[in-house]
Amino acid sequence: MAKKQFKAESKRLLELMINSIYTHKEIFLRELISNASDALDKLYFKSLTENKGLSKGDFEIFITADSENRVLSISDNGIGMTKDELESNLGIIAKSGTLQFSKDNEDAIKTDEDMSVIGQFGVGFYSAFMVSSKVEVTSKAFGAAEAYRWTSSGADGYSIELCEKESPGTEVKLFIKENVVTEDGEKAEDYEEFLLEYKIRSIVKKYSDYIRYPIKMECVKRQKKQDSEEFEEVKEIQTLNSMVPIWKKNKAELKDEDYNEFYKSKFHDYTDPIARIHSKTEGTATYNALIFVPKKPPYDFYTKEYEKGLQLYTNGVMIMDRCGDLLPDYFSFAKGLVDSEDLSLNISREMLQHDRQLKIMARSIERSIKNELKKMLSNEREKYEEFWKEFGAQIKFGIYNTFGSAKEGLQDLLMFSSSSEEKFTTLDEYVTRMKEEQKNIYFASGESITRINALPQVEAVKDKGFEILYLTDHVDEFCLQMLVEYKEKHFMSVQSADLDLETEEEKKEIKKKNKENKELFEIMKEALADKVMDVRFSQKLKTLPVCVSGAGTLSVEMEKVLSQMPGDKKAKADKILEINANHPICDKLQFLYDNDKDMLKAYADILYNQAMLIEGINLENPADFVMKVADLMTK
Ligand code: ADP
Repeated sequence: MAKKQFKAESKRLLELMINSIYTHKEIFLRELISNASDALDKLYFKSLTENKGLSKGDFEIFITADSENRVLSISDNGIGMTKDELESNLGIIAKSGTLQFSKDNEDAIKTDEDMSVIGQFGVGFYSAFMVSSKVEVTSKAFGAAEAYRWTSSGADGYSIELCEKESPGTEVKLFIKENVVTEDGEKAEDYEEFLLEYKIRSIVKKYSDYIRYPIKMECVKRQKKQDSEEFEEVKEIQTLNSMVPIWKKNKAELKDEDYNEFYKSKFHDYTDPIARIHSKTEGTATYNALIFVPKKPPYDFYTKEYEKGLQLYTNGVMIMDRCGDLLPDYFSFAKGLVDSEDLSLNISREMLQHDRQLKIMARSIERSIKNELKKMLSNEREKYEEFWKEFGAQIKFGIYNTFGSAKEGLQDLLMFSSSSEEKFTTLDEYVTRMKEEQKNIYFASGESITRINALPQVEAVKDKGFEILYLTDHVDEFCLQMLVEYKEKHFMSVQSADLDLETEEEKKEIKKKNKENKELFEIMKEALADKVMDVRFSQKLKTLPVCVSGAGTLSVEMEKVLSQMPGDKKAKADKILEINANHPICDKLQFLYDNDKDMLKAYADILYNQAMLIEGINLENPADFVMKVADLMTK
């Protein structure tokens, strides 16, 4: 039988899994049961919609523990897998082709600290290799005539062969590793305990109690012998789980731990969620919802492959794994499920989109997520900041992508760094701190706070005692532009041409000076051709000789962001070259105007390029700039 190789990344991950020193190895059982339950869901749904004549009572998960041969098996009579499915589902772990292992990832796994690194890749099935030296998956797809067996002893590959299996479904057989015993006879790793009834029972109870199909096992029961005081041990098949879906239970009965374990097993995460919403709604739409906000985004969150959505159930039957219509894009990080009483089982994706009940549910889910986040922001600031670091960009994109129509609900969730707060500030907090004479909410954009602080215009605003929001994310300025204003205060870029910080006197003075030098500026403008709209002296600069500011709605910073996007038609900002009226360079320019117009043109070009450098914008012709400066240096 030919052995096939795992894809490179899968192989690497598998090796890590095999050598993992993760202490909670027991979660392998939760993962396999969860897969079995998904397979049962799929077949149950098929049988209901296609009249396959099966009833829910027919479905089960069966665990068999054979201590003698050290084999643990988990079988289900669910949808099963064809040969191709065995190959594609179990031959490749990470579904994203772009998956990369960084050194950090590997170290994290090895240090046992952060299983979430593995978790991010959604490697449920492979956790079996933490406890097994060999894994055999025997499966017969529902409706298929043949069954196949997938076998692997680890990273060296796997094989698939035709085999016998009577009924459809899947059996996963784990050949449990031998215990590792240290020299002094202590058990360093106890794998064999996973074959013990009490251990299996407790793992199932802990992680899989809510599974809505019976998880059965042959158990030993001590009972009184008939007509005697003596005890005997008899074997009987018992159901280990209570089968009540957690979302149907009363909140009062549930502990944080119950929710967290449910979340982790259901949504293949290794980290507890940061927030949850459990609601029961009656009225225009009757449904239960259980929604979680993960602590960290899954590995594929920022890729095209990521699909937002909540699981959709109708009366306890799952009808859709990811119903995207239940979540707006800006909350695409949310995980969870909705169990409705009003939806038909046979509803198609297309019909769902137009379903009134679904729309009502989606609106109310959106509202509850917003409220939960607002609550977190006011009561648990640190936690919210953690959330914001991971998913804030999503919300900013939300405001931008909806052209500001979603701003009412979202603007109070926004946070930015600012010049007066070391940490994040909300817009509301900014506005309460505003000075009486301050008209605008000031912001400055740049790659980093250090970069922004070096911008010449920042100094002037800070000098007035006005706070500045630091926009370091590409989307930030686009988002603020959609907001236009907050609590009747306009957003104003410190890099904008009409910053308007000068006193009336200063304004008058500069106006006069600009008028006197009209022709000088004409020559400079000409030298800069279509690069700038205007050249002028300005009072807003303190130390640096020059800056560019934006005159239109598209700022210089936005131009920079757009220039990094694909496509050859680049939008350009209307730029104004502002020269520090109090800098000796002004006299020099005036001197050149009188004596050497060619040199004036060269100066215009140098000043423009200097301003671009301060903004962090790549020069169009750096060699030319260097030559011009070198010329001056050697004069
Ligand atoms: P995930 O469950 O996150 O998709 P897994 O690695 O655990 O990842 O499983 C990979 C895939 O293999 C599943 O998505 C499913 O299609 C298939 N699979 C696993 N176990 C079973 C099973 N018992 N019955 C049918 N299909 C299964």
